[in-house]
Amino acid sequence: MPERIRHAPLGNKKVKQPNAEVHIITDQCKGCGFCIKFCPKKVLEESQEINARGVHPPKILDESKCIICSFCTAVCPDFAIFVVEKPCKEERHIKHD
Ligand code: SF4
Ligand code: SF4
Repeated sequence: MPERIRHAPLGNKKVKQPNAEVHIITDQCKGCGFCIKFCPKKVLEESQEINARGVHPPKILDESKCIICSFCTAVCPDFAIFVVEKPCKEERHIKHD
């Protein structure tokens, strides 16, 4: 049987973890917990805070694990969470003449 040659995926060294910034609009949250339950990376957890609606909104447990899949935004019925990508350091220092 011929020996199988395994190749690393092309460009695999260029793939970087995105630099995520998770935003929670706490007073808009109804405390359903969908974002916490369905986040594939366990970025969120329930906070002890009580918001304007009298419920516990989520809080960020570990933002560095976020892959910006935006699943939390998709499942939130009250549009209370969204995620953006922070520019990397090199991009922040680009001068625009
Ligand atoms: S964007 Fe994805 S990984 Fe990041 S917090 Fe939302 S569901 Fe979790
Ligand atoms: S899905 Fe939206 S409303 Fe539900 S807990 Fe998360 S932020 Fe709050």
